[in-house]
Amino acid sequence: MISGFMYEKKNKIFSRLSTSVLSLMGLSLVTVAISVNLSQDVTHIVPLNLSDAVLPSLSTPKLATEKQINLPDYEYTVQLGDSLSQIFIKLGISYDDLLSVMETDLNHLRIDTLQPNNILQFWVDGSKKRLDKLELIFNVAQKVVYRRLHDDSYEFTDVNIIGEWIQNVTVGSIEGSFSVSALNAGLSYNDVHSITNLLKNKINFSRDLRVGDKFEVVHSEQFIAGQTSGQSEMQAIRIQRHGVLITAYLHTDGNYYDKYGDSLQRAFQRHPTIGKEHISSGFNAKRKHPVTGRISPHNGTDYAVQIGTPVISTGDGVIVMIRDHPYAGKYIVIDHGNQYRTRYLHNSKILVRKGQRVIRGQRIALSGRSGRVTGPHIHYELLIRGKAVNAMTAKIPMATSVPRTERSAFAKAVTMYDKMMFAKL
Ligand SMILES: [Zn+2]
Repeated sequence: MISGFMYEKKNKIFSRLSTSVLSLMGLSLVTVAISVNLSQDVTHIVPLNLSDAVLPSLSTPKLATEKQINLPDYEYTVQLGDSLSQIFIKLGISYDDLLSVMETDLNHLRIDTLQPNNILQFWVDGSKKRLDKLELIFNVAQKVVYRRLHDDSYEFTDVNIIGEWIQNVTVGSIEGSFSVSALNAGLSYNDVHSITNLLKNKINFSRDLRVGDKFEVVHSEQFIAGQTSGQSEMQAIRIQRHGVLITAYLHTDGNYYDKYGDSLQRAFQRHPTIGKEHISSGFNAKRKHPVTGRISPHNGTDYAVQIGTPVISTGDGVIVMIRDHPYAGKYIVIDHGNQYRTRYLHNSKILVRKGQRVIRGQRIALSGRSGRVTGPHIHYELLIRGKAVNAMTAKIPMATSVPRTERSAFAKAVTMYDKMMFAKL
């Protein structure tokens, strides 16, 4: 595989994500790189020597070395069925480095969310084959960086580009199933999943809709320099079911309500336990490590419980991940739709399967002390739009309607969204 395409891609990513190398873009644009296949999947990027003739501005030739222009030593695009340890083995990087990265990742668990087509970039100390830096690039707007520190631990940095959120309106009518009609109108699989999940108590999507029924959706999509990041959010939905209007509007608290301000989401419960259990350690985004003094966030709430205590799903959702992690132990991730996820760590036994639907209050695991812990406990996390928040204080759907004081603002937003959708009909 020759580098033209890959290089162009890399430049794009760099130019959008990493301001630290922006000043070097001039260099990488004239850098000619070839790639050599190390194996089927791993590509080693070998820049050619740059001559002074090509780079008249470079007075010191050593500036043009690979390290100084900060290009990764290896770049790898994740394929279905990959494991990180296999990739490390292919690159000859030690398993200790992987464990050390995973130790840092315990508080974030981002490595476990890698999907096919995500990109990994490795900076490796050539002689010792030590991993100096690892970047996981999820899309043009999101990446995380693990950088080696002097004590051989890794520092974690989350890089997010806000970019531009652009609204658009999609309208369509039912011809065949809702999902086929929605996809034909330009909505994505994720949108269809979110709509059917959100309105499942209002409509039976496989039975209630007829040919000619209409749907309208206001969508906000993230763009980085004109390129979509793949992240989007639905802001308003209207479905005309033979004369009956079904609505959903996203309020500023992140929850969906119908046009009367009544909640469409089933409430969450606050704690992942049946009874009231002792909280041994609370959420703390700025927790300092007692030994190193470095910021080492505690992104969840710990409940000190005996091994074998039932762990409860705090909301309705789908099991999207079950993992055994060297530090997080046996853990479960539940997707509740509409940007909510929860995680349950250190279990002794998992009682659910990946893909299974669960309801609020359902037993999903038995607690334990798997992974690295000082004692048995449940570590519970709530993530909103991928970011860990304090589950004890977060504004989760617990209320049944828009609070009185926010009613008029909500009504104004409904009118605005309705106008946008009406204009498209
Ligand atoms: Zn914890």
